[in-house]
Amino acid sequence: MHVRKLTGGLAAALAVTFSLLSGQAVAAPAPAPVADHLVAARVVTYDASGSAEFRTAVDRGAAIWNESVDAVELQPVASGQRANIRVLADNGWPRALTTSLGNGTVYIGRQAVDQGYNTIRISAHELGHILGLPDRKPGPCTSLMSGSSAGVACTNPYPNAAEKSEVEGNFGGELARTAGAVPVGVMIVD
Ligand SMILES: [Zn+2]
Repeated sequence: MHVRKLTGGLAAALAVTFSLLSGQAVAAPAPAPVADHLVAARVVTYDASGSAEFRTAVDRGAAIWNESVDAVELQPVASGQRANIRVLADNGWPRALTTSLGNGTVYIGRQAVDQGYNTIRISAHELGHILGLPDRKPGPCTSLMSGSSAGVACTNPYPNAAEKSEVEGNFGGELARTAGAVPVGVMIVD
């Protein structure tokens, strides 16, 4: 999805702003009808060329985010272009280094895959870190960011409602909060 609508939330925010600016205890005006604002999703590119045998899983993980949220769109980088996210396969534990919201490096570590953890869940989880989500461990399988704490049998690759809305907020433009909860410049293992 490339566009989304900002209607009710925007109208409410404007009404609050108006009442704050008025400086006196007057009733907030009834929200005027606000035209639908079509806001383009922020495109974040990823380069999975270094993800070896996990490339399909990485593409699926990215597609799951695209199905789940409107504010950001993960797209494979065009050849010759520098990607926002590099995805690499290696022999360590899966981890992510977020350099800034929407930018960083993801490692799909074979150590976890060899233990039986699901490669699509790993991919979506690590991409979730780059989209500003911290780990939420321990947690249930319904949570994507519970990571390995949900157990090796957990194959759920989808963010839950709270995780989706957090990412929408992270990329939601000027009315949303501007800082993700994920630490920047720190390697998050798992
Ligand atoms: Zn994690």
